[in-house]
Amino acid sequence: MTPTEAVGADVILEVRDLRLHFPIKAGLLKKTVGYVKAVDGVSFSVYAGETLGLVGESGSGKTTIGRCIVRLYKPTTGIMRFRTKAGLVNIAELDKRELQPIRRDIQMLFQDPNSSLNARMRVGDIIAEPLDIHAIGTAAERRTRVEDLLEHVGLGAEMYNRFPHQLSGGQRQRVGVARALSIEPRLVICDEPVSALDVSVQAQVLNLLSDLQEELGLTYVFIAHDLSVVEYISDRVMVMYLGKLMETAPTRKIFERPTHPYTEALLNSIPKRIRGGHRKRYVLAGDIPSPVNPPSGCVFHTRCQYAKDICKTETPPLQPLPDDPETSVACHLAEEVTLQPYYTAEERRVLEADRA
Ligand code: SF4
Repeated sequence: MTPTEAVGADVILEVRDLRLHFPIKAGLLKKTVGYVKAVDGVSFSVYAGETLGLVGESGSGKTTIGRCIVRLYKPTTGIMRFRTKAGLVNIAELDKRELQPIRRDIQMLFQDPNSSLNARMRVGDIIAEPLDIHAIGTAAERRTRVEDLLEHVGLGAEMYNRFPHQLSGGQRQRVGVARALSIEPRLVICDEPVSALDVSVQAQVLNLLSDLQEELGLTYVFIAHDLSVVEYISDRVMVMYLGKLMETAPTRKIFERPTHPYTEALLNSIPKRIRGGHRKRYVLAGDIPSPVNPPSGCVFHTRCQYAKDICKTETPPLQPLPDDPETSVACHLAEEVTLQPYYTAEERRVLEADRA
């Protein structure tokens, strides 16, 4: 896509051919001797009001994409068109000053509430900091806003003067949520926001994020290494491997009809949760290869149980399935091999009946 091509009115962020290659420096003169291809030609759209799950192992490039969107990193190449009130803006090429007004619209919620909150600041001041940076409201208005936010995230205004160490992990992440929402962003990049929390607390924070999304009309990009976490919160899922997109589909289809062998392997790593459920487990062998020298052809071929000769030499393009344009997959054999789903449609009905 070129910068002049149309973007649908329901798209809040359009990413095209995004690449971030970190140079590797060596020697006295710090010469560039290679590149870490953290993100390598990724294209996708984020629709207003949806949650887009971004999933893959450590080293897949998912967090790097999140950091590019909030412009903690400047992409090497590519376009990221964000819909502002004034129209579409390619945030990939903006400088620090031009980015300032856009930072109000795009916020990041970090993984570890322990390290992302300043231990020496009181909770109220932590949440008010973005309001101070953007000079929003008077001191009294900021105080009222922070107290409202504390109520909204289920902490209560009495937490205003506490320090982070006086809170539980779940409470600290709620402070992180309140801080990210304080300046009323439209797009929130959630970077593994529940990974550091106990399972029981994870569900509370996921429910909080869902409720706030509905109430405030937020759009989320939700990054996780585990498909089971994104299942409950995401409308669509993108599966990444070694800086590339392997598959993208509505969440239900990912679980009922995976079309990429890597998606199948990720689903296999989740314990089956339904009554009487069992599955033949295929465990993914080895580690993710180095992004400095990624495998030729399909980057997944060194770990794929279905790989054929063509997979070693030709890179499969990401393309929609002929019978299902909602699903796109990068696999030479997508229409040949039948992969094992996590649920059959019947098993999902049983699970939903159990939950009800
Ligand atoms: Fe496996 Fe080949 Fe498909 Fe890659 S293209 S996922 S190696 S079958």
